[in-house]
Amino acid sequence: MKFEVKGRIILSGSNKEMKKDLENFIEDANKTLLVKGTKDKSEAAKITDWKLEDNIIKIKIKSGRKIRAHDAILRLKNPLSQLLGPKYHIGVRKIKVDECKAIIPRGNPEIEDLPFVASVEVKNDNLIVKFEKLDESELRKHVVDRVIRQATRRKTLTEKIVKAKAGEIVAKSEKRKALFDGDPTEEAIKRGWIKKFPGRGQWFYTPPMAALCRAFESLLIEKVVEPLGFEECLFPKLIPLSIMYKMRYLEGLPEGMYYCSAPKRDPELFKKFKNELIIKKEIPINLLKEGLRDPSYVLAPAQCEPFYEFLSHEVVDKSELPIKFFDRSGWTYRWEAGGAKGLDRVHEFQRIEMVWLGTPEDVEKIRDKTVELSQKLADKLELEWYTEVGDDPFYLEGREFEERNLEFPEIPKYEMKLKGKEDVAVVSANVHGTHFVDGFSIREAHNDRIWTGCTGLGVTRWVYGFLSQKGFEYENWPKLIKNRIKKTKVPKLLTWP
Ligand SMILES: [Zn+2]
Repeated sequence: MKFEVKGRIILSGSNKEMKKDLENFIEDANKTLLVKGTKDKSEAAKITDWKLEDNIIKIKIKSGRKIRAHDAILRLKNPLSQLLGPKYHIGVRKIKVDECKAIIPRGNPEIEDLPFVASVEVKNDNLIVKFEKLDESELRKHVVDRVIRQATRRKTLTEKIVKAKAGEIVAKSEKRKALFDGDPTEEAIKRGWIKKFPGRGQWFYTPPMAALCRAFESLLIEKVVEPLGFEECLFPKLIPLSIMYKMRYLEGLPEGMYYCSAPKRDPELFKKFKNELIIKKEIPINLLKEGLRDPSYVLAPAQCEPFYEFLSHEVVDKSELPIKFFDRSGWTYRWEAGGAKGLDRVHEFQRIEMVWLGTPEDVEKIRDKTVELSQKLADKLELEWYTEVGDDPFYLEGREFEERNLEFPEIPKYEMKLKGKEDVAVVSANVHGTHFVDGFSIREAHNDRIWTGCTGLGVTRWVYGFLSQKGFEYENWPKLIKNRIKKTKVPKLLTWP
């Protein structure tokens, strides 16, 4: 990477005597000031030309990647003031960059719309970026480096394949008047519908909340899942690491899961553990660590993992397609770095997961249907919603582009959201192309093309969105929900809620 800058250092005055001093200064700067910070001379900056005109020093700087020319010009300011101030009573007023050019090997030309970019040109595998005129404050804000960062960033796999713009809204409901303007989490705590659990992002859901969750679950199954012919299975939730590897989830989001270890067979160690616990009255955590095997499982983060494993290395005849399963058998888990707070962002949640295998056309059609029926249900519940093109589908999340002979759909993910103080995604509808078919070696008998898809209906999310809009008064709720709620009671403790 190379940089070239033409700039002006504007002084507060001029003096014929100072030319010699400047000469020495620049010669010296090229040897010390502008090479400080790199051992490699070609990565440093160099003043290649300069000229004093009245009170302006016109200057050209070339540089490599380490001491960039646009930073180098700033480096001159203070030492120059220290030189000219005491002797000539002249200060440095301003620094202006009139031309700034970056030459970036294999840079991404899609940066031409960024601020400060004047022109972009590709020449012999190099990207040549010319910047608009820059003043000192812009230089100090590192705007050049930010543009360069965008030009050198490798595209993520998602960006590479997604044809539509993430965030583009493809459908939305009519406006609805909210019946509640509080914070659903705080209100639920106050009423004793939930209680904070010590683990991160976990809640204890008491009878009224549980009843609401079950009402939504049955409603979703009746209105979305069953009409589309999905059949229920019970999917395991403790998922061996090898499956996450085949899903390529470990490359994409390894920091987003809970890992589990089984204990070692070591009765002596566990005896010691028990004894220490009894005597010291605290958990001997180091002994426990010693007693555990290496992590070999995760707690299911996506809920559809077992489906692909179920079909792994199997051969299916197209006459049996599509295969449509769903699971609602319990909690799934996600580690949210730093981001767990209310009921809307939790580490442990209830979801109905539909997952299917079929021809590419069918797989897309089924995905679209799951979204449509969810939207219809939300309308019946008088909820305000919108559906948008999702950004990172879970199976590609965080991964960089790779050359693999996979088929991907034009739109890998739709997300339907309910409006509220915080909008929440209640439906995530994905088409994976051949991503899992390839990873798990699933084959059609005639080698016809087959794809997979999955849609998650976040039950706890639906409840959160519903409460944000409809509030906590049973009388205000739509019949569809009321009919499914059985009377519940929260026990009053002396100290809670
Ligand atoms: Zn899924």
